[in-house]
Amino acid sequence: MDRLARSIESVGLPQPLRVDAARAAIAAGDPDSAQQRAEDLKRGLLQPVINATGVLLHTNLGRAPLAVTTSGQANNLEFDLGTGKRGSRASHAGGLIARAVGADDAIVVNNGASAVMLALAALARGAGVAVSRGELVEIGGGFRVPDVMAESGARLVEIGTTNRTRTADYEAVLDDVSLLLKVHRSNYTITGFTEETSVSELAKLGPPVVVDLGSGLVDAACPWLPDGPPPWLAGEPAAKQTLEAGARLVIFSGDKLFAGPQAGVIAGRSDLVQACAGHPLYRAFRPGGLVLSALQDVALSYLDRRANELPFWRMATLPVPELEDRAERVLTELDAPDTAQRAQGRRELDGRDVAEVSIEVVRCSSVTGGGTLPGVEIPSIGLGLGGDHTTALRAHEPPVIARVADDMTILDLRTVDPADDAVVASALSLVVRP
Ligand SMILES: *Cc1c(COP(=O)(O)O)cnc(C)c1O
Repeated sequence: MDRLARSIESVGLPQPLRVDAARAAIAAGDPDSAQQRAEDLKRGLLQPVINATGVLLHTNLGRAPLAVTTSGQANNLEFDLGTGKRGSRASHAGGLIARAVGADDAIVVNNGASAVMLALAALARGAGVAVSRGELVEIGGGFRVPDVMAESGARLVEIGTTNRTRTADYEAVLDDVSLLLKVHRSNYTITGFTEETSVSELAKLGPPVVVDLGSGLVDAACPWLPDGPPPWLAGEPAAKQTLEAGARLVIFSGDKLFAGPQAGVIAGRSDLVQACAGHPLYRAFRPGGLVLSALQDVALSYLDRRANELPFWRMATLPVPELEDRAERVLTELDAPDTAQRAQGRRELDGRDVAEVSIEVVRCSSVTGGGTLPGVEIPSIGLGLGGDHTTALRAHEPPVIARVADDMTILDLRTVDPADDAVVASALSLVVRP
């Protein structure tokens, strides 16, 4: 077994993992499979991939892409450089996010789900919370508002109906609730005979209004985008305007339209935010310095009106003609003789017989994804190949993740960093006979 494990050293895995692969291969009566098993193990490790799916915030691909660097040095995570005493980890990123959305105060936890859980536990344990039946959502991954409510110790008071909830429905339960919760319908829409109550109407009723926004659009006016808000963003509630309308707290994810790292933000009135910060669950849900440092950079870029440089906003707002140019350049690259040769060599190496595959520039639609803006499409440009070639594209290093529609593999260039176009060309050369 040791010899077999040593013989697959070139895979580049630590010895104990190579031993695991060797042991599994021997147990399967197929020692020759050790190398493949080790390679499969390595492919399972966290690694960069090219997102050519056209889903900008792909939850399976890590949602908002973000480059993060760290100095490897100690930092003032919980240290006040003025007094030399213990500081708060909410004072940097939290304070900046509060400033960006126009809140008194904000704290950060690990994700949106824990932010909702913490806010309910801190503000409504043992008390009633009114939620419209049209907003008892499941976000995905088993995150269901009624379940989260139960876990937090708050008591759900369902009001209204699936399609219509009026102010009077909230008024009828005011004696029984200490919080009004509004949950943004992030991943589905209700159309037709519908009615819902606005935040400003709810704010007049008395109990604090908490809004789970989900997506974390900072400001509906998008002052960081030179051309203002793109049409596909219309109707998406933003943190700043929701607070202005009278919400006492807003809750949102760090890695959806906020375009930062995975995190959850609770922002709003100071006493409520501090009640959340003082709850024992905050200690369990708080993120580390890596995340807070990345969030701080993102918050600074909003305050500087240069959030358009964040990968998500850059990709989301790329004009279609620019994508067309890129698609043409990838095709030209594929036609280049040395690429052709590389593709040929690779095919023979693999011993696969690849039929001629045609490739063309196609119009397609990107979506924001990640449980945001349901039904909203952003015009885009992709490369289309007849048939399903997703397996071959995933086998490339780095893996290229595409989608299949109507028996055509589409690589949507909107979600690909332009610096990775050459990688897309290289992956395509594996499947296309130039
Ligand atoms: C996405 C979402 C959540 C969960 O946020 P995560 O960061 O994925 O944990 C909660 N509520 C709403 C409305 C959402 O859209």
